[in-house]
Amino acid sequence: MVVGEIADRVDVVVIGAGPGGYEAALRLAEHGKRVVLVEKDAIGGVCLNVGCIPSKALIHQADLARLPRTEADSGVSLSVQLDGVAMLTHRRKIVDGLTAGVAGLLSKAGVEVWTGSARFARADRLVIEHGANVKHLEFDDCVLATGSRPIVLKGLEPDSHESVHIVDSTGALALHRIPEKMIVVGGGYIGVELGTAWAKLGSEVTIVEMGSRTLPGVDPAMGRVVSRRLKELGVTIETDSRVSHVEANGEIVIDQAGIQTRHRADVLVVAVGRRPNTDQLHLEAAGVSVDERGLIPVEPNRKAHKRIYAIGDITAGPSLAHKATAEARVVADAIAGQPAAFDPAVIPEVIFSDPEVASVGLTPTEAKEQDPGAISVRIPFSANGRAQTLGDPIGFVQLVADSDHTLVGAQLAGRGVSELIGELAFAIEMAATTFDLAATIHPHPTMSEALMEAANGMQN
Ligand code: FAD
Repeated sequence: MVVGEIADRVDVVVIGAGPGGYEAALRLAEHGKRVVLVEKDAIGGVCLNVGCIPSKALIHQADLARLPRTEADSGVSLSVQLDGVAMLTHRRKIVDGLTAGVAGLLSKAGVEVWTGSARFARADRLVIEHGANVKHLEFDDCVLATGSRPIVLKGLEPDSHESVHIVDSTGALALHRIPEKMIVVGGGYIGVELGTAWAKLGSEVTIVEMGSRTLPGVDPAMGRVVSRRLKELGVTIETDSRVSHVEANGEIVIDQAGIQTRHRADVLVVAVGRRPNTDQLHLEAAGVSVDERGLIPVEPNRKAHKRIYAIGDITAGPSLAHKATAEARVVADAIAGQPAAFDPAVIPEVIFSDPEVASVGLTPTEAKEQDPGAISVRIPFSANGRAQTLGDPIGFVQLVADSDHTLVGAQLAGRGVSELIGELAFAIEMAATTFDLAATIHPHPTMSEALMEAANGMQN
């Protein structure tokens, strides 16, 4: 580092070009601010490059590969050939198209993008390093949007063994050969999405989960629908278990209540959660503190300390792209001097498992804790005409309302429910009642009719 170097000066610096950071930079530029966006890796962050987008592209490929089986009764027979290299190229093409689009928007908005890794020198000054190139940047306001990275388990570091290919979620999305056997460590949403996709592509998959069930965070009824489908796909689920280590000969040792079994796999995917990227920012130099999980506490307008703000995965709440983007809009308005607070009624959450599960707001139990008169109803998709025509009438719609019939939550499991949950998030944001939803004419035949029918079922 060069001591005493004259720094550039900018209105706002945004660190991290994920869905939080690039959105904040664009909106700040709209507010007329001179913005520098610093990114050490790739525009688009985790979501576009190694998260939401390539994983959903892989899941779609896996669904296509499964069509001959899922459509076996339809009278249409199909055959499938898989080309792992072409499939990876296709996923990369989608990512490249989207990241190029974001880069174009940033350039059009006049946002300067600097490549490098940023850390604080003091409360209003950053050091930005890119190889041997070191720059200093002073700012009026700073937005931290540095996201998160996979937790690495000791002894199971990516590429740390000769005889087993150990990968994190990024590596699991970049495979160009379909592994014969795959063990996934972690039965959270990333482990389940990846395990399901590779199982559909032909891998023999085992998911090893420390807790008593996969998808521990979701409503048990939704979890059961997904577990049943995983079993139908031939996925082995080892609960109350952990991968303790990998032997030198490549055997993977799974420990279940002290009993150890040895397994072989071509690929071991470690998907045990993510940690916030706050440890390399030298936050202490800026007077910004973190909590015990490494997250930055913020005020409703995302302010962490003086003129430093934080958004996205480095702050509390669900680690989801749309939450980061929504916070980005708030932070930009706050820095522009407008009244702004991140205070959504609900944040919808989707897991792209098979079938998809989607939730928003309170579960029936949570609602009853707050309002003993709260009501809920669950109706299956088996009676839904569209679900029948799609050949996959599994899952359900569950709606939750308070004692005044105002909608407060929903839990859905079923084909394509990721596209239905937005309507329920909107309904809850607008304080709609079950009467409003029941009286709204939904098109036929669609899965969305089940929302109206569930609301109808809550009228008595
Ligand atoms: P990130 O997207 O993590 O971006 C942060 C950026 O900051 C990175 O590009 C990083 O390189 C950069 N950076 C970090 N430190 C520095 C530094 N010191 N200097 C400069 N740059 C720095 N979410 C969903 O909503 N839907 C999904 O379907 C979904 N699927 C996912 C699937 C997978 C496999 C994974 C891993 C994640 C998925 N997520 C999904 C989560 C989603 O990707 C994150 O919640 C989202 O990317 C967080 O956005 P962010 O802006 O906070 O940070």
